[in-house]
Amino acid sequence: MTAGKIDNQRMEKIVSLCKRRGFIFQSSEIYGGLNGVWDYGPLGVELKRNLKDYWWRVMVHDRDDVVGLDGAILTHPAALKASGHVEGFSDPMVDCRSCKAHLRADQLGEKKQCPICGGKDLTEARQFNLMFETHVGATADEGSIAYLRPETAQSIFVQFKNVLETARKKLPFGIAQIGKAFRNEINPRNFTFRSREFEQMELEYFCRPNEGMQLLEYWKEERLNFYENIGIPRAKLNVLNVPDADRAFYSKGTYDIEYEFPFGLQELEGVAYRTDYDLSQHQKASGKSLEYFDDETKEKFIPHVVEPSAGVDRTVLALICEAYTEDEAPDDKGKMETRTVLRFHPRMAPVKCAIFPLLKNKEPLVAKAKEIVDLLRPHMSIFYDESGAIGRRYRRQDEIGTPFGVTVDFETLGEKDAALRDTVTLRERDSMKQERVAIKDLRDMLLSRIV
Ligand code: ATP
Repeated sequence: MTAGKIDNQRMEKIVSLCKRRGFIFQSSEIYGGLNGVWDYGPLGVELKRNLKDYWWRVMVHDRDDVVGLDGAILTHPAALKASGHVEGFSDPMVDCRSCKAHLRADQLGEKKQCPICGGKDLTEARQFNLMFETHVGATADEGSIAYLRPETAQSIFVQFKNVLETARKKLPFGIAQIGKAFRNEINPRNFTFRSREFEQMELEYFCRPNEGMQLLEYWKEERLNFYENIGIPRAKLNVLNVPDADRAFYSKGTYDIEYEFPFGLQELEGVAYRTDYDLSQHQKASGKSLEYFDDETKEKFIPHVVEPSAGVDRTVLALICEAYTEDEAPDDKGKMETRTVLRFHPRMAPVKCAIFPLLKNKEPLVAKAKEIVDLLRPHMSIFYDESGAIGRRYRRQDEIGTPFGVTVDFETLGEKDAALRDTVTLRERDSMKQERVAIKDLRDMLLSRIV
């Protein structure tokens, strides 16, 4: 599946920026790190929230036909037996006898060689179940096993009847969920791309059997629009129509939406028509009816489902990779230098606006800048910075992707030209263009550009 050009150097710069500026840290780093597990720092958590909030807005709040759910992570083993995960949620694993590495057999490539030491002495492939198992309660025996959910979807299926009855929805309608999922990946890699703990944003959109194929197309298009609206252009996405042989046996159609990461073209989201497989399995195993009664036709049947399933962490990584740019900009003395800038869509940017008094030791400038902080703070995430040359301050914000900077200068105080009193310089990150804006217009102008 990996195609496109690989740019390791770019990826290294991105990983280093993420750590340096507080987007993403290795989990338990001071103890040597926990492989495949990551923590989001002060800026990373804002970026992630903006993504999840926007997904929730367009997938749930903006629609009449979708409601939300927040299911538990600890899952009853019977649910995951019924869904097929206990039996079959595994990847083929081989071990390298030379360096003892565990490897995914399906990712070895043509040469069948260990990618770490180059060794060719590999064991036979065996199936490795990716679920994390734990025990609930004081006794750790067979009867107390529970699993950390490997996807958020199953709690939606298991709660289908409760949601149907309480939300009083008619087909077609959806249940959406954002939350953690856990997979004991054999070989976590490519920064956060393949992690052992991650978040998903999933929608299960229930429908009549004859609507499934059409809704699959509909949701693929909706999801492609979503990526454009958060700043990932269509040209960087690839839609893979997953061939019959590679699809789950119950799926009548699956699209993988792939993004051109610096490490290759890789899956961001799967959009799958899963037929009535999941609800049928849970009905069979639980003995409880999960049927839907159609008022119009007076028919009872198990709804079919189309599932757009996206990864939060993978999308955050795509946003950072897409935003990362190096260009040329003048320093404080007008000499051109390389500038690192994250060109986030303003909607996604962790900080929307930075506020700078031109000088920190001029009380009226600082007081005015703080007034602007108070004016904007209830409406957007802001950052106040009074230290260092103004060019340096702009640069620090460029590097974290802040789309707007407001500078309070002597003109704001009306010292040079009374007509400019209570105006500020508004600087735009990408073009570095500056315009003079009245403080009274600032809030609405910014809000219109960041929603
Ligand atoms: P892959 O083939 O890359 O392992 P998958 O096809 O198993 O992914 P799904 O089961 O379809 O993935 O999960 C839906 C989405 O959840 C994926 O498109 C991805 O965005 C996210 N996801 C799955 N596994 C991981 C992981 N280990 N780390 C981060 N995100 C993941």
